[in-house]
Amino acid sequence: MKLSRFNGSHLGVVIGDEIADITKLIDADPAEWPPVSMTRLIAQFDDNKALIEKRLETTPRVKLSEARLETPVPWPNKVIAYPVNYHAHGREMQATYRAANQGFFLKPPSALSGASEPVLLPNVPGREVHHEAELAIIIGKKARSVKREDWADCVFGYACLLDMVVRGREERVFRKAYDTFCPVGPWIVTKDEIPNPHELNMKLWVNDELRQSANTRDLVLDIPGMIETASAVMTLYPGDIIATGTPEGVGPVTHGDIIKIDIDNIGVMSVDVKQSNDGYTEVFAEPYVPPIIKQK
Ligand code: MN
Repeated sequence: MKLSRFNGSHLGVVIGDEIADITKLIDADPAEWPPVSMTRLIAQFDDNKALIEKRLETTPRVKLSEARLETPVPWPNKVIAYPVNYHAHGREMQATYRAANQGFFLKPPSALSGASEPVLLPNVPGREVHHEAELAIIIGKKARSVKREDWADCVFGYACLLDMVVRGREERVFRKAYDTFCPVGPWIVTKDEIPNPHELNMKLWVNDELRQSANTRDLVLDIPGMIETASAVMTLYPGDIIATGTPEGVGPVTHGDIIKIDIDNIGVMSVDVKQSNDGYTEVFAEPYVPPIIKQK
C-alpha cells in the first residue's frame, strides 16, 4: 500500500494515478496539532488495514497530478541518519570513517518537507548546498535492542529521502538542519510491497543530469545493522525515519533546479529548488568549497 499525506494533512492511499482519501474513514483530523494522524495510523495499521482495503472502492478520490503531496510523517519522534554509508561516497568525501564505526546523527523533524514543496536554499554566500539521495526506512513499532535477525518486525515501510546539507567543516547537524532540508516522499510504500530492500536501485538527477546511481546492496552498514545500532541506543517509535546514507555523486544545487530521485518499488519524487533570503548566519561567514574527489 502507498500511503500519502496531501492537500492539507489529508491521508490517502495512492492507487495508480489517483489518491483515495481515507481521512474520514480512519477518523483523522486534518486540523489537529501536532499533526500525528499518520503516526497513529502507522502505530495502529494492523487494526486499520482490513477496513481501508474493504472500503477503498467507495472512498472519494482526487487526481494524483492535482494533489499537493506533503511529507508523509510530519511529526516523528526522531529522524535518524547514517553518515558515510557507501564506500564510494566515503572516498569522494575523503572520509576515513564509515557508518559502521561512526554511528548515526539526527536531523530535526522540522527539516521535513514533501514532494510538492520546494527545497529552500539558505542565504549563505560562498557555500554550496548539496543533495544526498537516500532510502528512508519508516519504523512501524516501538522497539529497543532489536537483534539483527528481528529487524523486519519493526519496519513499516520505505520512502525516498533527500538529505540536504550546507557543505563545510561546522557541526554536521547544524549544516543539515535548515527547514526543507529533509524532503521525504512522494509517499510511504509498506514493506509488503518491497520484499527485498537490500537490492534496490536508486538514482538522482539534477534537471536532466544523472548525478547519483547506486544500489542498496552496496550499503556499508546494512538495513538490519542500522536498526540494530539505532535501537541499541534509543527506543524506536512508529513513524521514526531512518535516512540510510548516500552513495557517491553528491553535488551542488542552485535556484531553479529540479532534483529528481527514483528508487525501485517506491517511485519518483521531484522537488524544486528555490533561493531564500532567509537563513544567513555568521557561522557560515567563511567561504568553503568542498574538496570532492570524483569517482571513476
Ligand atoms: Mn546523508
